[in-house]
Amino acid sequence: MKFDTLAVHCAPVDEATGAVAPPIHLATTFARDHAYALRGSYSYIREANPTQLAAEEALALLEGGARALVHASGMAAGVAVLQTLPPGSHVVLPEDVYYGVRVALRDHLVKQGITATHAAMEDVDAIRRAMRPETRVVWIETPSNPQMKVTDLDAAIAIAREAGALALVDNTFATPALQRPIDLGADVVLHASTKYFGGHSDVQGGVLVFREDGELAKKVEAVRHDLGAVASPFNTWLVMRGIRTLGLRVERHSANAMAIARALEGHPKVGAVHYPGLESHPGHAVAKRQMRAFGGMLSFRVRAGREDAVRVASSTKLFVPATSLGGVESLIEHRHTAEGPGSTAPEDLLRLSVGIEDPADLIDDLLAAL
Ligand code: PLP
Repeated sequence: MKFDTLAVHCAPVDEATGAVAPPIHLATTFARDHAYALRGSYSYIREANPTQLAAEEALALLEGGARALVHASGMAAGVAVLQTLPPGSHVVLPEDVYYGVRVALRDHLVKQGITATHAAMEDVDAIRRAMRPETRVVWIETPSNPQMKVTDLDAAIAIAREAGALALVDNTFATPALQRPIDLGADVVLHASTKYFGGHSDVQGGVLVFREDGELAKKVEAVRHDLGAVASPFNTWLVMRGIRTLGLRVERHSANAMAIARALEGHPKVGAVHYPGLESHPGHAVAKRQMRAFGGMLSFRVRAGREDAVRVASSTKLFVPATSLGGVESLIEHRHTAEGPGSTAPEDLLRLSVGIEDPADLIDDLLAAL
């Protein structure tokens, strides 16, 4: 099946009732029979539940993996992998990796003896230089948040493999509609399903998809069960609902972002436009090779600096000034303010999550604000 067909049909018709939309089970506990044996395969919600299992089967199919594990948030999912590492482990990750991941390593995982090196991962040699004998994970985020840098997946995965480290790809920005890292050899794919999977800015969730249903998936499942960062059935159901329209939405997000990138490029008040779909983007050729289209995220620099950037973000009428991304509505964000002290986002940078509105209205709105 092609991706769009798979997305629609990955949640099958309910066997028990014929319901075309998947059922939602809110039960926290599951009864035993007269012999005190479990009636089905479920016992307690934190271990496993039917809604979770249905979503995991769908998500594994979409990413081309053997197993998926849904979590309470994107952060909970990503950190669960790091929590399986022994003390003394080292992680290589991008310089502008999603800020929450930087903070998790810097403020929390360091206490468990896990260290990190941030590398300019758009440069393959920089990844090689960052590797150490104790490197256990090469954490790839492409395109990166918020500077839209592109990492060569083939090369980065090969470096991880040579070193015996896991290749983990945060595929939140691209989604499997555009990029399927497991097909290229990645061990784990991470999503904040809060973003494009949910698609409507009304659900929080995270998912890990594993190339193999093996040791790593087992260890992560134990972390989720024992430490408790499980997803609620209702949120999981909303993610399942969202992924059925993922292909269609991402196509429109991508077309709109491309139109906006072209409208901003060369604008006298705009310093640089970071969108991998533009021929001028340094990662364009790599992105073209590994992505079907370039996604709905872009960022740009306001020539006059921080104050004007903040003014632009406060002046749009359609773009909502808010953090997060991946919903049907367009958002504009001054990333440096959102990240706060320690942010590595340039102060003149604005990040756009381009929605599915009419592109002409979006372009008018931005140009008027500028
Ligand atoms: N990864 C990326 C690329 C993100 O942008 C985010 C959140 O913005 C996350 C992970 C974390 O997701 P969540 O906010 O659901 O924990």
